[in-house]
Amino acid sequence: MPDFILYNSLTREEQTIQLIQPGHLRFYSCGPTVYSYAHIGNFRTFLTADLVVRTAEALGWQVTYVTNITDVGHLTDDDHADALGEDKMAKALRSKEGELFANVWDLARFYTDAFVEEWEQLNLRKPFVRPRATEHMREQIEAIQTLIKTGHAYETPDAVYFSVPSFKAYGQLSGNTRADALEEGVRDVVKDTNKQDPRDFALWKKDDKHLMQWFSPWGWGFPGWHLECSVMAMKYLGETFDIHGGGEDLAFPHHECEIAQSEALTGKPFANYWVHTRFLQVEGQKMSKSLGNFYRVKDLVAPNAEGGKGFDPLALRLSLLSGHYGKPFNFTIQNLKDAAKIVRRYQDAWDLVEGILHSDKPSGTDFLGKRLNENYDAILLAMTQNLNTPEALAKAHAGQKMIQGALSGMGKEAAKQASKWFQKVNALLGFIRRERTLQETNDTTDAEVEVAQALAQLIDTARSQKDFARADAIRTDLLQKGFEVRTTKEGSKVTKKIS
Ligand SMILES: [Zn+2]
Repeated sequence: MPDFILYNSLTREEQTIQLIQPGHLRFYSCGPTVYSYAHIGNFRTFLTADLVVRTAEALGWQVTYVTNITDVGHLTDDDHADALGEDKMAKALRSKEGELFANVWDLARFYTDAFVEEWEQLNLRKPFVRPRATEHMREQIEAIQTLIKTGHAYETPDAVYFSVPSFKAYGQLSGNTRADALEEGVRDVVKDTNKQDPRDFALWKKDDKHLMQWFSPWGWGFPGWHLECSVMAMKYLGETFDIHGGGEDLAFPHHECEIAQSEALTGKPFANYWVHTRFLQVEGQKMSKSLGNFYRVKDLVAPNAEGGKGFDPLALRLSLLSGHYGKPFNFTIQNLKDAAKIVRRYQDAWDLVEGILHSDKPSGTDFLGKRLNENYDAILLAMTQNLNTPEALAKAHAGQKMIQGALSGMGKEAAKQASKWFQKVNALLGFIRRERTLQETNDTTDAEVEVAQALAQLIDTARSQKDFARADAIRTDLLQKGFEVRTTKEGSKVTKKIS
């Protein structure tokens, strides 16, 4: 198997992934803030995460993939360290679209469901767990308490702040050049004058009028946006894990702040590799509602009768795959139309191959297997070289042509090889067929149980690593949440206690 090489934004060079636990990738990728529909630029980032997962799986690795839902605490002005502006969720509730909802919780639930549905349409791998910020409040409060105790955070009348000067490595991801820019950025807006350093960022905002509030040692309020990813990543993946991903716009301040909080908490490295997906333009311009070129998935894939453009979601997936994640991508409708034709061609050829397999044609000879295996190896190699999708697709198209050209004389033996090739290429690139039926993962009402099941598996992982303290801590956490934990032949299982 080839090495898996990725461009690491932290070290600014391509590196061979060295897993903490050989054969097991632990991967966190930032999910959406569910105040509105995600757009295709967001989904390009989620697609990069999906390709990391699929490539790792193709290499035979076990993958623990965590991606979150931000359903509180992301402010409209979160690029400023003071975390100014309004909570995006609360603002959305007061907008025109918000009239549909009775409260901010309903709004979050609606956009989470819409997001997961589009996720499935694009054939993105189901994560191990999809934790929500609002369901990890106790962990966030505990993290803040620890940071205060260790001198990395302090309280003012308005908030609790992380003390940036207390963490010497701040700026390692973004290049540390932004501290001055940041101070410039906040100069003209109202500042919390009780802050010790302009770069200090909010861990907790005190606000007893906020639509979503929790009681904390600092009174009623809600957490800062950056904190949720730190606590949720560490909860499900451990204090140090392998890869952290997200859109390039998140590198600063979000990811920089995640590193500072996490490493201040544990004294250990947070994530070893950072992968950032570059931005997307539409027809050569910045995507914006006022230009009329703002697309969310549904705009492109819903049937014409429902106001959409009626494209196959897999064509959208292929279109997004055609650009390398590390370069800006120019999305065009023409590219999408071309992608739709290509997807159709693959699907038709695969159908014909399956037809031969299930016909009474003679077995014939296997004249394809060796060449198709070599072709697949070349596709996988391209993906392991920093997810080189343009190269992988060029190879795949060559393989597909090979099969297409051989169809007329194909017997069952060759068809078996062709079918195998389609399955493997689809498992790696995912644009030919959806691998599971829709709705399978859309049961968001069971989110709490899903999280609990995932945690139960972590008990087994911890035990297998002889980390019994961690196994016990997870078990206690589950019991406190009202679950029973049973040890079965298939590993630990949970059931919800009925009180
Ligand atoms: Zn995040």
